[in-house]
Amino acid sequence: MRLKRLRLTGFKSFVDPADLRIEPGLTGVVGPNGCGKSNLLEALRWTMGENSARSMRGAGMEDVIFAGTATRPPRDFAEVSLLAERDGPDGAEESEIVRRIERGAGSAYRIDGRDVRARDVHLLFADAATGPHSPALVSQNRIGAVIAARPTERRAMLEEAAGIAGLHVRRRDAEARLRATEANLTRLDEVLADQT
Ligand code: ATP
Repeated sequence: MRLKRLRLTGFKSFVDPADLRIEPGLTGVVGPNGCGKSNLLEALRWTMGENSARSMRGAGMEDVIFAGTATRPPRDFAEVSLLAERDGPDGAEESEIVRRIERGAGSAYRIDGRDVRARDVHLLFADAATGPHSPALVSQNRIGAVIAARPTERRAMLEEAAGIAGLHVRRRDAEARLRATEANLTRLDEVLADQT
């Protein structure tokens, strides 16, 4: 999957709409302290479905919404859109993934204008061997964390690079459905036994 464009509105310090074109190859973000470098990377991870407010350096997810400054009032919503390109059967296919959060209303996702569940977004990225925790997104301190990672964590990185992370999600889903079905069968046996 190639990430092509990030568009932010009301996300953390990016109160006004901002477009970031992501060119092929390695992208680095440089700038003075506090200019919003980490916020950009967090916006990317957030659109991919990041659910931990703490890892977005907030107490709650609404903390990603522009909180206001001495001269500008706070916003009621934040929206980030990510344009991504994948190889499909008929050549490259573009998808636009949008996540939006409104105060008091939580997050909503869209893919190509269609309302979808968070899980659909997770699967889209997991199947493309990427996602909010992808080792391809290298934040400050991350390099040290990769070096110090435990073997299980390294395995997760390799599995993601190999593109099988999505299979794990589907396997967990299938196992949960199997357990629910087994519980239903047991219940059915009990009902039948009661009637005989
Ligand atoms: P450093 O190089 O010091 O790590 P950085 O370039 O990575 O800095 P960020 O941490 O991305 O900078 O941005 C910090 C700025 O974002 C701070 O000025 C902070 O006040 C602002 N900020 C964070 N959350 C919000 C928010 N919800 N509303 C408004 N501004 C915010």
